[in-house]
Amino acid sequence: MTGLCAALAAARHGAKTALVQDRPVLGGNASSEVRMHICGASENQQKPELNEGGILHELMLNNKRVNDDFCFSIWDAVLFDAAKYQPNLTLYLNTSMHSAKAEGAKVREIECYQLTTEKHLFFTADIFADCTGNGTLGAFVGAPYRTGSEGKREFGEPHAPDKANNRRMGNTLLFKAKDMGHPVEFIPPAHINEYTEYDLRLRKHGPDVPQEVLERADPSELRMMYDGYCPDFGFWWIELTGEQEDIISEYEDIRDDLVKAVYGVWNHIKNVDQSAANFALQWVGMLPGTRESRRMEGDYMLTENDVFTNRRFEDVVAYGGWQIDNHAPHGLKDVDRFPADVYEFPGSYDIPYRCYLAKGFENLFISGRSLSASKLAMASSRVMGTCAIGGQAIGTAAAQSIGKKVDIRSISVHELQQTLLRDDCYLPCLKNEDEMDLARGCSVSASSHQNGYEAENILSGVTRAIDGATNAWRSAGLDASGEWLQLDLPAPASVGMVQITFDSNFNIEKRIALSSKRQKQQVIGVPPELVRDFTIVLTLNGQEVGRQEVRNNHLRLCRVPLRQAACCDSVRLEIHATNGSPEARVFEVRLYEQNC
Ligand SMILES: Cc1cc2nc3c(=O)[nH]c(=O)nc-3n(C[C@H](O)[C@H](O)[C@H](O)COP(=O)(O)OP(=O)(O)OC[C@H]3O[C@@H](n4cnc5c(N)ncnc54)[C@H](O)[C@@H]3O)c2cc1C
Repeated sequence: MTGLCAALAAARHGAKTALVQDRPVLGGNASSEVRMHICGASENQQKPELNEGGILHELMLNNKRVNDDFCFSIWDAVLFDAAKYQPNLTLYLNTSMHSAKAEGAKVREIECYQLTTEKHLFFTADIFADCTGNGTLGAFVGAPYRTGSEGKREFGEPHAPDKANNRRMGNTLLFKAKDMGHPVEFIPPAHINEYTEYDLRLRKHGPDVPQEVLERADPSELRMMYDGYCPDFGFWWIELTGEQEDIISEYEDIRDDLVKAVYGVWNHIKNVDQSAANFALQWVGMLPGTRESRRMEGDYMLTENDVFTNRRFEDVVAYGGWQIDNHAPHGLKDVDRFPADVYEFPGSYDIPYRCYLAKGFENLFISGRSLSASKLAMASSRVMGTCAIGGQAIGTAAAQSIGKKVDIRSISVHELQQTLLRDDCYLPCLKNEDEMDLARGCSVSASSHQNGYEAENILSGVTRAIDGATNAWRSAGLDASGEWLQLDLPAPASVGMVQITFDSNFNIEKRIALSSKRQKQQVIGVPPELVRDFTIVLTLNGQEVGRQEVRNNHLRLCRVPLRQAACCDSVRLEIHATNGSPEARVFEVRLYEQNC
């Protein structure tokens, strides 16, 4: 998700971009090959106001529109469609980067092989972004990286071990099972691992909570593990690290062991404790997802202290909020430990731009789970929502760097932040200060409003309910005669594009998910709160000078380029229908002279 969002952002901002991906489908661990659901700062809706916006949210809404049955192949197609048909972006699937060249502080070229066409491809570029998860490009060109845990002395992190070590979280294969409504036999493959009830006693694999778990787990761990338990979705704790604990060089061996482990655990619950009599396997992954390998060193390294103290940085370009989620060092083999140590914290932390700049390189971004972060900070920042918004930030930064012909450290971070806000990325504590936005000087009125949701809220500069403010207009109702919101300009000005941020309701999940528990938390289809049909009307001295109709909207961020820019003194948003909700909701309206 990091690489995809980075590439889309760079291309949308005008940079000629190549997205090189060694597999046939996009999305990394969120693709149909691995099928992990995307988590982020909202921490599975413990903090819904922190859901990621931007490109990731747009992709999720595109998926909600067409994928009522949570089909991962359709999700693959949504991602493919976004990348394949994005102007300025060329997609190279099945193309594996196998080496790279640098000259001094600059990456010059990556060398790739496209398996399907037997082509050797060489890419030169002004800027490279390493979104491989493993930090492979960085490692190829000799950028500094780390593996394992920092010792406590280095950053003074509360949960760091006294001494540094080389332990990494393991890889996992997921599966999907279905309740068939009648008993289903399971005949295991010939080669499986055998697990006893003792081996699995600290790992949720049935509806009952073992006494030892009740005694040892804290309430949040119990809630996480046992609420809505259903054996239909692979167990994330089927996790292995390899004999030498080297996730990369032992990947193939780990996979072999994981296959035996997955079928071994399923055999246990089907044929030993018999807690899933009616369930049948529908799908078992063969491509293990990776949680942790290299972490690159950047200009700044995020730490557990930054995470726990909700640290704010002036050069914030992304944020995180997922708990520190640090897994047992030997995965399934640590039978006497819980599979993960989880440390929750309220609120969010900033991720500074410096974390994305590979130390010692002038044109190399690092991101995703190989971001410049300590192991404990990465235990939070690795979730795909956080990776995706970081990807959007570096893609946008790359385009600005190319556009201005300056290196990636010399761009204006303020401009980058403002661009990200305009593109519906949330940055804690920052507001819209875009000087090109004509709406900022306007007065606002509306046909009606609910208390606390007055029309002028749409100019608060923040596009979500957060920090005690609604930052939204909501109409009192919505009937066939419609509702309207009007912006009056202080003086006539030319308007060529209207940008509206509607409310997709962050309180409800939108992600593709394998787990029936996660599916049931969702509303099927387009979020009902999103405005569906609306018209923009421009007037000058009371005379209509422009009109644009939009029908069947399913997006939160809606950019409406007008057929022709017009000089006007007022812009009215007439709302005719939502996707089901009985009120109109708007977070922000921006007015621009041109489409941008
Ligand atoms: C079992 C499991 C459960 C998890 N649970 C969750 C969860 O519930 N929610 C969540 O958000 N996160 C979860 N995570 C963590 C999350 O999936 C990863 O941290 C995240 O995928 C990292 O994103 P990324 O974009 O950096 O890398 P990846 O998702 O690994 O993507 C890297 C991409 O780069 C491509 N690539 C790699 N090397 C090359 C190369 N040499 N040439 C060309 N292309 C290359 C890969 O094909 C892939 O598409 C889980 C991870 C695992 C393994």
